[in-house]
Amino acid sequence: MSPSLSKAAAPPGGRIPVAVLGATGAVGQRMAVLLSGHPWFRLAEVAASERSIGKSYGEATRWILPGDIPEESRGLPVVPADSRLSSKIVLSAVDASVADEIEPLHARNGAIVVSNTKSFRMKPDVPLLIPEVNPDHLALLESQPWHASGGGIVTNPNCSVVGLAMALAPLHAAFGIESVVVTTLQALSGAGYPGVPSLDALGNVIPFIDGEEEKIEREPQKILGRLVGPRVQPAAFPISVSVNRVPVRDGHTESVFVRLARRAPIEEIGQTLSRFEGEPQRRELPSAPARPIRLREERDRPQPARDVEEGFGMTVTVGRLRADPVFDARFTVLVHNTVRGAAGAALLNAELLVARGLCGATSDMPAASEVLVAG
Ligand code: NAP
Repeated sequence: MSPSLSKAAAPPGGRIPVAVLGATGAVGQRMAVLLSGHPWFRLAEVAASERSIGKSYGEATRWILPGDIPEESRGLPVVPADSRLSSKIVLSAVDASVADEIEPLHARNGAIVVSNTKSFRMKPDVPLLIPEVNPDHLALLESQPWHASGGGIVTNPNCSVVGLAMALAPLHAAFGIESVVVTTLQALSGAGYPGVPSLDALGNVIPFIDGEEEKIEREPQKILGRLVGPRVQPAAFPISVSVNRVPVRDGHTESVFVRLARRAPIEEIGQTLSRFEGEPQRRELPSAPARPIRLREERDRPQPARDVEEGFGMTVTVGRLRADPVFDARFTVLVHNTVRGAAGAALLNAELLVARGLCGATSDMPAASEVLVAG
């Protein structure tokens, strides 16, 4: 099920045009769906590799999502990713090797680049943003070399990190985190399209994803870090990670073990997770789920097949919360890797930027209350 946000009011000047780099890929396709009927944004420009340039978006794209390619994007011409784009907001879903060069180019041209890619996530002057967790880190934009021209780069975290950091954020704020161990079971769509060969994936578990453990060991500390002057002081706790690729279509599952600085009864930990909310909920941003974390009580949830679409893919589901004899608490996290872990995360970041008036667009955008309806 995809979100349709069509009941919300458009901005006074009409929907804001946005460009998508890597629009034909697994994440780019999600972006096209989420932008279709979005109340604030419309997909105006699509870019991809040489393979696709000159074709229409419909011709260039091997559509891998349920339903048809959105009508309003089907006929858009695919342009090179280094084209001079007219959209102020550029959502980027290209490989890091491409993003290294292309994203600064658009920032230099005055665009706000909202990126899914690892290239700039750990740069000291680039926000690694989860709007519910660290919206104050947007102040880093002022230190970027493109700030004077109105451009900038904002990133969203690795797809596993989003779920993990959202679950850790309220616990770190309430109790302090001393250490974390996490084992992931990651979906095939996380490898893009065509991704992992079928003979490797089917009926199998692959205990390795290149570069993934390093990202999960480093990114949460930046996200949960404190802004001190113009820099983020990372949170100090260590994270030990093991990753696995499993034959699941969408949804990364993570078994998490946490040691807390202040011991707390498991009920208090559960309440802390359930009550978590942030600026997107207060501002009623179009892509904000009513609750960022859903805590499930059943003994066998969350499961990707049943829970990945929670909150239209924007809610992180936590379950199996229980005391741990070695650590203090253990639980299972499920995150939709191409929605909350990628395209939906970028869109929520863009909405926050617009709502805060950081895209040169109006800051008094209409709230999107009660607009999430099944599409
Ligand atoms: P993908 O399915 O392989 O798509 C890659 C996209 O990049 C395609 O649109 C492709 O265009 C385009 N591209 C390739 N080479 C290019 C070039 N030289 N110039 C311009 N465009 C080029 O990959 P994906 O899974 O969508 O991932 C995209 C990015 O998001 C990656 O950095 C990935 O790490 C990150 N990410 C992915 C996920 C996930 O769950 N999949 C989650 C978080 C972050 P053509 O179709 O024309 O080749």
